[in-house]
Amino acid sequence: NKQVILKDYVSGFPKESDMYVSRNGTMKLKVPEGSNGIVVKNLYLSCDPYMRSRMIKNKAITGNYYIDSFKPGSPILGLGVAKVLDSGNPNFKKGDLVWGRTGWEEYSLITDFQNMFKIQHTEVPMSYYTGILGMPGLTAYAGFYELCSPKKGENVFISTASGAVGQLVGQFAKLLGCYVVGSAGSKEKVNLLKNKFHFNEAFNYKEELDLDAALKRYFPEGIDIYFENVGGKMLDAVLLNMRAHGRIAACGMISQHNLDKPEGVHNLMHLIYKRIRIEGFFVFDYNHLYPKFLELVLPQIAEGKIVYVEDIAEGLESGPAALIRLFSGLNIGKQVVFITQE
Ligand code: NDP
Repeated sequence: NKQVILKDYVSGFPKESDMYVSRNGTMKLKVPEGSNGIVVKNLYLSCDPYMRSRMIKNKAITGNYYIDSFKPGSPILGLGVAKVLDSGNPNFKKGDLVWGRTGWEEYSLITDFQNMFKIQHTEVPMSYYTGILGMPGLTAYAGFYELCSPKKGENVFISTASGAVGQLVGQFAKLLGCYVVGSAGSKEKVNLLKNKFHFNEAFNYKEELDLDAALKRYFPEGIDIYFENVGGKMLDAVLLNMRAHGRIAACGMISQHNLDKPEGVHNLMHLIYKRIRIEGFFVFDYNHLYPKFLELVLPQIAEGKIVYVEDIAEGLESGPAALIRLFSGLNIGKQVVFITQE
């Protein structure tokens, strides 16, 4: 059983060499006697920014949830798409396709079914269940529709807009008839935002010396909704440009993940001046919306109204490099690791 192992806890920017691929793990492909677990063959693994917070010693805290740190010397854990090989659980049978929590390895024994979903729709690429039809998709849906109370014609700004979550938020907003602008970290990503996802405007934040001025250029009348993925300087600049009664969905702050000390945010008084509602959220609090989300998004994918860009690395060996691409912005679209077809 080939596995991606975390060498040791990580500080600062994660490196490929913080992980290694081991070929030594052995595993019986049968569920142990009396267990209600399932044995799966992992097909696709999802690279997600929150995994960085599991590489530190102390448990990462997410709201009321504690997400365990990875254990040095053990395989890292994440979300993935897998096929059931053996089951001791009445809800799953051999041959079922599932997505949810699994290990970064060829085969896993899964005993925690908290975030495990059976895949019912197989007419789409299976990798989509790591992205648009998986956790990032539900994040975009819950964050935009539940937290932002969006209305037609409103001005929407999305940071990290070409990523797994951002590209979908932007397309939801466009379909609703909003004016949508996204920021991203390269020319190629900006082109994608404008030409593939049909955002009204997009800009490369790395080329803007003054983010406040950039936002004023694209939003002369201000921002109604900010879908926050980066934090730091961008959040500070956005606060200056929000309109009265604006809403901010605090989804993630990836610019802060690798800093020893988080950057300060200076413009919080604007929350008061403009009566802004800012709300953080955690996607798995919205699992109950997953069927409703699929009902909305599957037909839109089938009709080509929503498109999705993935960045697929081949093979478990490419896992460590693929994961750290998220933090240098090398991924173009949803970063996935492909292990095997079935
Ligand atoms: P992406 O696919 O967008 O990949 C990460 C991207 O972040 C990179 O490509 C890069 O894009 C950008 N980035 C990396 N480092 C920095 C930095 N220092 N400063 C600014 N941008 C940086 O990731 P996801 O779509 O999966 O996640 C987007 C956000 O959503 C993350 O903050 C994540 O933590 C959060 N999230 C929150 C969830 C929740 O439940 N609240 C659930 C899922 C995700 P670029 O080139 O544009 O800079």
